[in-house]
Amino acid sequence: MKPAGKKSRNTRQRTVIMEILRKSGYHPTAEAIYHEARKVLPNISLGTVYRNLNFLREQGQVREIRTDCDSSSRFEGKCPPHAHFHCTNCQAVLDLPLPECLDEVRWEGTTDISSIQSMDLHVIGACRECGPPVTV
Ligand SMILES: [Zn+2]
Ligand SMILES: [Zn+2]
Repeated sequence: MKPAGKKSRNTRQRTVIMEILRKSGYHPTAEAIYHEARKVLPNISLGTVYRNLNFLREQGQVREIRTDCDSSSRFEGKCPPHAHFHCTNCQAVLDLPLPECLDEVRWEGTTDISSIQSMDLHVIGACRECGPPVTV
């Protein structure tokens, strides 16, 4: 078989990374993606994974999630706008729904905003596994 050219190799790497992000219901770090990707592409390097993640992020296909309480970024395939809950104990990152129509969001007393295109909201706390049970 003819060795694949550089272009098709990049495409293959990106397809594998997107597939990992689609399949994982959580928000993996670049390292976690790297470990998964190596099962399919044994020669892939961590640097290549970072490079492809950056490329996909610039293309708007991947979203990078950063919080103050975790040093490593998480990644997810682009999906409808949502907020993230971050557990400071087990570092789990969970999806939280945002209001469907962002235009409906109003901040009391704020007149400096004309319209909102996207929102990046992090909620920090303890997840159900780590914290005491919530009593309502
Ligand atoms: Zn937790
Ligand atoms: Zn998410």
